[in-house]
Amino acid sequence: MAEEKLSFQAEVSKLLDIVVHSLYSNKEIFLRELISNASDACDKLRYGALTAPDLLAGGSDFRIVLTPDKEARTLTIADNGIGMNRTDLVENLGTIARSGTAAFLSQLSGDQKKDVSLIGQFGVGFYSAFMVAEKVEVLTRKAGEDQGWRWVSDGKGEFTIAPDASATRGATIVLHLREGEDDFLDGFRLRRIVKTYSDHIALPVVLADGDKEETVNSASALWTRPKSEITADQYKEFYHHVAHAFDEPWTTLHYKAEGAIEYTSLLFIPDQKPVDIFHPDRKQHVKLYVNRVFITDDCAELLPPYLRFVRGVVDSQDLPLNISREMLQHNPVLAKIRSGLVKRILGELKSKAEETEGSYPTFWTNFGAVLKEGLYEDFERKTDILELCRFATTASDEPVSLATYVSRMKEGQEAIYAISGDEIGALKRSPQLEGFIAKGVEVLLLTDPIDEFWPNAIGTYQDKPIRFVTQGAADLSAIKSDAATDDKRPEPAASDAVAALIAAIKLALGEEVKDVRSSDRLIDSPVCLVADEGDVGLHLERLLRQHQQAAGQRAPRILEINPRHALIRRLAADATTDGAADRLKDTAWLLFDQARIVEGEILPDPAAFAKRLSAVLERSA
Ligand code: ADP
Ligand code: MG
Repeated sequence: MAEEKLSFQAEVSKLLDIVVHSLYSNKEIFLRELISNASDACDKLRYGALTAPDLLAGGSDFRIVLTPDKEARTLTIADNGIGMNRTDLVENLGTIARSGTAAFLSQLSGDQKKDVSLIGQFGVGFYSAFMVAEKVEVLTRKAGEDQGWRWVSDGKGEFTIAPDASATRGATIVLHLREGEDDFLDGFRLRRIVKTYSDHIALPVVLADGDKEETVNSASALWTRPKSEITADQYKEFYHHVAHAFDEPWTTLHYKAEGAIEYTSLLFIPDQKPVDIFHPDRKQHVKLYVNRVFITDDCAELLPPYLRFVRGVVDSQDLPLNISREMLQHNPVLAKIRSGLVKRILGELKSKAEETEGSYPTFWTNFGAVLKEGLYEDFERKTDILELCRFATTASDEPVSLATYVSRMKEGQEAIYAISGDEIGALKRSPQLEGFIAKGVEVLLLTDPIDEFWPNAIGTYQDKPIRFVTQGAADLSAIKSDAATDDKRPEPAASDAVAALIAAIKLALGEEVKDVRSSDRLIDSPVCLVADEGDVGLHLERLLRQHQQAAGQRAPRILEINPRHALIRRLAADATTDGAADRLKDTAWLLFDQARIVEGEILPDPAAFAKRLSAVLERSA
């Protein structure tokens, strides 16, 4: 087999272009990235060997060796982990494999200065080697395979791959340093960089100088060390490594559970929202270790999907070391650990939520929509979760808890009211809210898609049902208003006239509406639409249609009219006179269409709407 030349994926080329030409001053982070990869590679092999011990042929003393060579001006980072075969090399070192780097790319602005500072924020994994190296060689052999490979690139759009007989198990990365980067051959400098960024790595990171070897990190798993001996920076660096993240942890939760089942957990909640948090796989992101041996980062049983924003590790001695992924399912020990973790995390969130002036709103903005999934997925804890929820309302832009909402309920108000839609501003202008606002009744403004689902699952909070104001009848008469707003409002049209108008509208619209009725939820608007009790809500139907789930399907709505509105009063008066049904036909449709437009619906027949509008204008001109 001869050498092959291959091109980087376009995104990688773009990334490398920025990396190579960047004047990013904190270049030393490349070492953190390469050591982090080496450590991951050793963890993977250690896990693989649990079921296939032969993979460890060649030794099981995992370590990472840094070798500076002043003559050749190379820095070598070698590990004896899982290694890569040809396919792995092409896939991992030729494309964007990781979410962190994808996030970096999605944030690019095109402004050189801003983009360069992003490198520090995200790190760019393996590719950061090109910040300091004009050429990178990777010599590697995958555990369990005979063929070794040599990957070489100058980071300019292409790389070569060739078979290499000299490669040992694992990966050896040789950096041919750029002019002026000789600093990275200095033992003191390297030692300091490792201490700063990679001290938490649980394997020895060894500095080789001639035949002298020195372990330069603590080489013990960070989570096993006493809390008092760990600095905030060490927690942060460990978080970066374990979460492949580059923000600050918003909160760090490090504890040892003692009792029937013992485990140590070091958990983090990010300060920024990861780009893939709404990925359909809803994977959790906490790594499972058994007695300091990495088992898996893909254990669905460890945490429920609604806590998938949590990062970190859990280490237990109460699971067997040779546990397979199949055995992790329905494992009673794991179930107990999971329930302990959930309790701790929700407890931590609760105390954060109770801090006045704290940063809980940041958490809520980032992950509230994810946590709310627990309201209908975790029956046992739905009340705990509900207390952590915060909502914007018609009365306050600062999100409030349901407890606060309930404490502000009006005399005679029996339910918690809510409205859902895409955007707060539009929601606040909804005609269905007018009567509530006039009476001073607070309404929750819900804008996450998930909000369509949990209120029904919850049922009640403090014995108060949660009701959508766009659904069912609204009986506001029992609620006492602060001001005597009712007295100032115009008199409603006579009830027989309203009945005649309703009959005329029903006749005109036929099956298009489920019902037409008079309502006191409207103040300034003549009409609005509501969904019947038990029908799909207005906003949910729109969401489903956007996702092509219910193409073309529309549940007939109820058209409500405002008997005190000047227009409705005039039409009502007209409705009792001869030939009204004919005259009101176009008007009925226009009222219906305007209610749909206000809902943000697209009219099914805009041409018919325009024609009716012209006809009505012509008659009144
Ligand atoms: P990440 O570590 O976030 O996945 P990187 O860009 O740092 O992204 O690395 C890309 C991929 O290359 C890794 O996921 C891994 O599959 C592979 N890789 C990198 N370094 C090594 C190594 N030393 N040994 C084995 N595989 C490696
Ligand atoms: Mg990496």
